[in-house]
This record gives sequence, structure tokens and C-alpha cells, in this order.
Amino acid sequence: MRYISTRHGRAAATARNFDAILLAGMAPDGGLYVPQRLPRRAPAWFDALRGLPYADIAARVTEPFLGGAVPAGEWRRLIEAAYRPFTHPAVAPLRQLDSDLWLLELFHGPTLAFKDYALQLVGPLFDRVLRKHRRRITIIGATSGDTGSAAIEACRDRETIDIFMLYPAGRISEVQRRQMTTVPARNVHAVAIDGTFDDCQDLVKGMFADAVFRDELGLSAVNSINWARIMAQIVYYVAAAVALGAPDQDVAFAVPTGNFGNVFAAHVARRMGLPIARLAIATNRNDILTRFFARGTMSLGTVEPTISPSMDIQVSSNFERLFFELVGHSGPKTAAAFRQFRATGILPITRRQWQAARALFQAERIDDEETRAIMADTYRRTGMLVDPHTAVALAAARRVKRDQTTPMIVVATAHPAKFPDAVVSACGVRPKMPPRLANLMALPERRVNLPNDLGAVQNYVRAHARLGVAA
Ligand SMILES: *Cc1c(COP(=O)(O)O)cnc(C)c1O
Repeated sequence: MRYISTRHGRAAATARNFDAILLAGMAPDGGLYVPQRLPRRAPAWFDALRGLPYADIAARVTEPFLGGAVPAGEWRRLIEAAYRPFTHPAVAPLRQLDSDLWLLELFHGPTLAFKDYALQLVGPLFDRVLRKHRRRITIIGATSGDTGSAAIEACRDRETIDIFMLYPAGRISEVQRRQMTTVPARNVHAVAIDGTFDDCQDLVKGMFADAVFRDELGLSAVNSINWARIMAQIVYYVAAAVALGAPDQDVAFAVPTGNFGNVFAAHVARRMGLPIARLAIATNRNDILTRFFARGTMSLGTVEPTISPSMDIQVSSNFERLFFELVGHSGPKTAAAFRQFRATGILPITRRQWQAARALFQAERIDDEETRAIMADTYRRTGMLVDPHTAVALAAARRVKRDQTTPMIVVATAHPAKFPDAVVSACGVRPKMPPRLANLMALPERRVNLPNDLGAVQNYVRAHARLGVAA
């Protein structure tokens, strides 16, 4: 399989293989990589997945995307090893909440959020591809929450990778900070910046924009625009739908959404032939997507803090992949539109394109008050604590019109223990920390504090990365 950029000039000239797009993350023209052609699967193919272990389903779903980058037997072993440490034997179990309502629990990985499901696989995949090309890289990222710890867990102790995660000092929860700072691996560097998340992101952009520095350190990223992460996320949609009767039975999903990566993976599963009757995008007060689906204009607002912080986002980067589809896979049209979006804060889109988008998704906005109410209600009725992101999707699922014979699957993206304060304020009880994080508060922390200064951060990275001058 070959991949093209959503902003390509001449598609054929820029098509690249899996290794290249994995390591690059973003295309040089500023676009996002997408498969030139998606594999389409017949009902019998989905039928044959029923009852298989998660790793087997993962191997079958992802195989065409790799295009032979890793030999099949080795890929199968890599997947097996990636999901072995997950604490539920089904890896991504379904839990029934009501006669037609299910939770897809995606918090059984090492850092308790759904990002583990992709990153635990993408980490070893990076390592494998780097070894093949005898290369080493330095991964740099900014995090306001769950991505940092998931990326660190995925890359720790790897000979081929050094990882630096920048976070705003004093502005993330103690659990989130400790998940990054207590990892005893020499290739892991948690860097507290005196500034905001936006400052951290600007520092990362600054490092990538410095061509000399970028090449010297072999900079790379594992953020959610990397196609490999989307690929790994398709798997649990397929596994869940098949477990509830697909392909003979249609299903619906409600997905808590920020950067549009997770819900876009569901959309890809549907394009591959999975019978998804309804796909609901659930957002918090940061509702750029909901406003777009309601009114047909996408205009930038300001980020407001909520109790579901992993969705406190205005620009949903992965939306570009859907837009590319809506404009008939035209690179030039996508490039022009997103250039205009960056310049004016308004994405140009026609009425027909908007209607096509509305036929594919339903979007709902849930504020903090409603989020707390549904957390309390769920606890009262089922004795279950859900995290605030999951609650946003639960509330959205209630609003989705659907046939009662279609099961609704709400995607549970984080464990409630990751957001104890929100759970206490909504339900009045403190969620129990799962055993694997039980001694998180007692472990020694390792971190460095740096000023919000590009030169200072670059000096630190140079001095501590194995590709740096000091190594
Ligand atoms: C990252 C994250 C989201 C948003 O997912 P996107 O793929 O960015 O839309 C939702 N919930 C939790 C808990 C997250 O960590």
C-alpha cells in the first residue's frame, strides 16, 4: 500500500511507503498522509473474525496497511507482545449498561487511556523500522495530559529512540505528571516548562522549524496525526462490532472527540465495510466540530478549560483527512482550504460538502454540568464510575436517534482514576487506583525545569539525546 498527502500536488509523484510515512508523521507539504486506496472487506471477511483473540483481529485488520514493511510472522508476534501487558484478557472488553447500550473499555493499557492501544503498538513498530534502516531518532512532543505518558511508556528503554516530553509546569494533574516523571528509563526525559501548553507546543514547533537542529537530532513525532496510530485504532471498532453481531448486525458508536483521530478511525472501519449505522461525535464546551455539523461553518474559537481536559482543543487536526474525502480527494483543494483556515480562522466549505459530512456523522456538545449529571446518574443506576470524557459520549449517545435494534457502543477513553477530582465532584466517591498505578505517589520523580526559551530547551536536548553533540 502507498500513501499520499492530503495536500499533494500530483498524487502519483508523492506516493510513499509505510516506513516513510511512519517515521515522517506529517507530510513535507504540511498535509496528512492517507492510504491511496482503502482496502474494502466483504461480510464473510468480518464473519471470520468472530471469536478471535484481539491480537489476531489486529493482525488481520492492519496487515494491508503495512504493505510488507514487517514480515507477517514477525508482525503477529509484535502485536501479541504489545497487548500482552494489558490487564484485561479481552484487551478492549465490552460492558453492558442497558439492553441496547454498551461501553467499549479502552483503559486497560499501562497509562489507563485509549492512547495506549495505538502507542503500545506504534512504539515497537518505530523501533523495528529504525533498526531495519539502522537509524536512531529523537522524539519531541508537547503534552497537556494523556499523550505524554502513553508515548513515554511506548518508547521507554528503546535503543533507537530518545524521547523528550514538554509539559506546562504546575498545569497538569499530579497523576498525569507522575506517570511521566517516575519512569526509570535513561532515554526518557520529562521537561517542565515555565509556561502554558501553547508555549510547550510553540517550543516543539520551533525545534522542528530549525532545520539544522532537526537533522542533527533526527527529530520525529508520535502525535495523533501519524497514520500508524489511526491504523491501530481501527482494530477495536472492528473487534467490538463483530462481538455484537456484525456484519449481520448494524452497530452505532459514540466517541469522545478532540483531535478527531479516534472517531476518524471508526469512519475508516466503516469505509472498509464495517456496518456502522451511526457515528456520533461527542464534544465538550470546546465545540468547533459540533458547531460545524450544526451550521456548516468551521470557525476557530478560544480553548476553554473543562473537566474533560483531553478534549480541550480547537483545531481538530485529523479533520483534514475527512475534508480531503469531501473534496473528492483533491490535494490542491485541501491545501488551499487549510491555508485559508490558518490565515483567517474560517474553513471554506460548500453546502454540498457540509451535507455530505452530516450524512456521515452526528455531533453533540455536552457541557460540564450535563457531564457531571450523567456521571452521577450512571453511578446511581449501575454502581459504575465513568471518567468525564466517557461521560460526554454517554450523554451524546442518549441524543442519537436510532433504531432500538441497533446496539449503541459508547467509547470509554479513560479510566476514572485518571480524573479523580471530577469523579469526586460528580459522584461523591473517589475512584480506586488500579493496582499497576497503586504506588505511583510513592515513586521517586525525575524531571527538569526549564524556562520558556527555545535556546535553553535546544541546549538541553542536545546535551541529553544520544544523537546530540555531547553523546
Ligand atoms: C485524547 C483523548 C480524547 C480525544 O481523542 P481524539 O482522538 O483526539 O479525538 C478523548 N478522551 C481521552 C481520555 C483522551 O485522552
